[in-house]
Amino acid sequence: MSSLQKTIVRPVQCTGIGLHSGRKVNLVIHPAPVNHGIKFVRADLPHKPVISAHFRNVVDTSLATTLGTDGVIISTIEHLLAAFTGLRIDNALIEMDAYEAPIMDGSAGPFTAMLHQAGIKMQSGKRYTFVVKEAIEMVENDKKVGLYPSKSLRISCTIDFDHPLVRRQSFTISLTDDLFEKEISWARTFGFLHEVNYLKQNGFAKGGSLENAVVLDRDRILNPEGLRYEDEFVRHKVLDCMGDLSLLGMPFVGHFIAHKSGHALNHALLKRFMDQKSCWETVEAAGTSA
Ligand SMILES: [Zn+2]
Repeated sequence: MSSLQKTIVRPVQCTGIGLHSGRKVNLVIHPAPVNHGIKFVRADLPHKPVISAHFRNVVDTSLATTLGTDGVIISTIEHLLAAFTGLRIDNALIEMDAYEAPIMDGSAGPFTAMLHQAGIKMQSGKRYTFVVKEAIEMVENDKKVGLYPSKSLRISCTIDFDHPLVRRQSFTISLTDDLFEKEISWARTFGFLHEVNYLKQNGFAKGGSLENAVVLDRDRILNPEGLRYEDEFVRHKVLDCMGDLSLLGMPFVGHFIAHKSGHALNHALLKRFMDQKSCWETVEAAGTSA
């Protein structure tokens, strides 16, 4: 991992719709100075309120990760944040003119492509990381999530669905291998038809379609183009976890292992990890490569 912080060279923008709101949103990613972190600004509201991408600002994890402060929210940010983690960009200001980030194609691929288009540059400030010193775990029924000491940042996910095309899938990625873009970033979000119908009947997933999600009925994938990876489902879980982990506010060195986990349990673990100060220390990042 580089020992210096990174931002983008020039602003870059896109337009899309929110997965749950169905609302059009314009998104602009701006460069930001050293130690700024990743922050969102709601350009459509008076005084343009700013919210940091930090787990202490998480107000809802039921359908997507939502940040909020003083009644202002920013929602469905996990795929966008995964792109910053995957490309190890420390500082940026993300401007939006609606509360929900664009879903694009349901993956982080369009965001990583945008960040490359903007150009990525090293900054003069040193990068610091959390190093996991002691294992910490949380269990909830058959779900389990944990952070463990490791020499590098690794993420392992297992999913287990009672569906003939999903079943049990596991995937591990080491972020030092630079495999994020190829192996993870294009994995799309997925849903089961009966759940999608239920969400739509209740006013959610208004923007959801086969353009931005893999949808399965009882024994088939409804998307005519099929899957991008044979195990696209678990790869998308890794992507979601990377977005959640970015809310620590700094990169970390350790192994994150999730078994059937979701946003809520991931965030609960982050809180417990931060509160248990014997579990971590912050150190200056070593190395000079990307
Ligand atoms: Zn997702």
